[in-house]
Amino acid sequence: MKDYALWTEGLRKQFGKTRAVDGIDLQVPHGSIYAFLGPNGAGKTTTIKMLLGLLRPDGGKFGLLDHEGPPDPRTLARIGYVPEIPGLYGFMTTRELVDFCRRLHPAWDHDLVDRYLDLFGLPRDRKVGGFSRGMKSQLALVLALAHRPELLILDEPTTGLDPLARKNFLQTVLAEVAQAGQTVLLSTHLLEDAQRVADTVGIIKSGRLVLQKSMDEIKAGEKKVRVVFQHQPPPWLQEIPGVRGLEQEGSAVVLTVTGDISVVLERVRTVPLFALEVIDLSLEQVFHEYATAPGRS
Ligand code: ATP
Repeated sequence: MKDYALWTEGLRKQFGKTRAVDGIDLQVPHGSIYAFLGPNGAGKTTTIKMLLGLLRPDGGKFGLLDHEGPPDPRTLARIGYVPEIPGLYGFMTTRELVDFCRRLHPAWDHDLVDRYLDLFGLPRDRKVGGFSRGMKSQLALVLALAHRPELLILDEPTTGLDPLARKNFLQTVLAEVAQAGQTVLLSTHLLEDAQRVADTVGIIKSGRLVLQKSMDEIKAGEKKVRVVFQHQPPPWLQEIPGVRGLEQEGSAVVLTVTGDISVVLERVRTVPLFALEVIDLSLEQVFHEYATAPGRS
């Protein structure tokens, strides 16, 4: 598993009768920005907490960087983490908190901290307790990045950020992180953001990983084919290899296809057609197909 900056094998966690994480195999390549997606309650935060040693798994294995199991202090020093709700010492000012964290990390990059505090326009001398949710998220991000971690784990980091802060995060911070070859596990509900920055995507639904692919594989291998037949649609459409779903849209039949589309086109063209169109799917549509459409997991 040393090809991956982060991996899990059959990772499981149950709360009472709820199978929060039900045997997932994550594979996050070194240097990738991995969008970890899923509807509310899918198991993203539970997974992240297990990875960081904050929750004990009920089964399975996992590793971060070159360490197997919950990170030891040496591995933790190479990881940056921004939780869903950042717990920052509210009685400190930004400056005091930065100084406090700086003492914990020998590899602290103070110039980077200064630059990002300016980028987000965060006040140095105000108490953090009085910050808005978005300001706290921004500060948590800056602190998580300051020791230039090899692996960044971000649990919904853009929730509560205004459009400018979100743009700064995506276009400056994440771009710099990607350029430096750092790996990012990014849990988010903002699919447009994920589409823009991620090169790998994992979708979790009810504790199970329902899709894990590179963005290129998704672009090449997840399509819709819209067909208007001259006569009744043939009954074998669903049986063509790669066809995952079929919907009627007015006079057209729309096929959802995974994998090699040429097989589907070849078969469909054996019957008389009025029109045929291949449609690329956005990440939002792919998410809908895998995570929210009924019976598709
Ligand atoms: P969201 O997108 O809403 O943040 P998520 O994908 O992060 O959701 P989790 O927070 O991991 O989902 O929750 C997965 C499931 O586990 C949910 O059904 C949740 O109610 C349950 N769960 C999580 N933590 C606990 C807990 N401490 N006790 C009981 N159930 C829990």
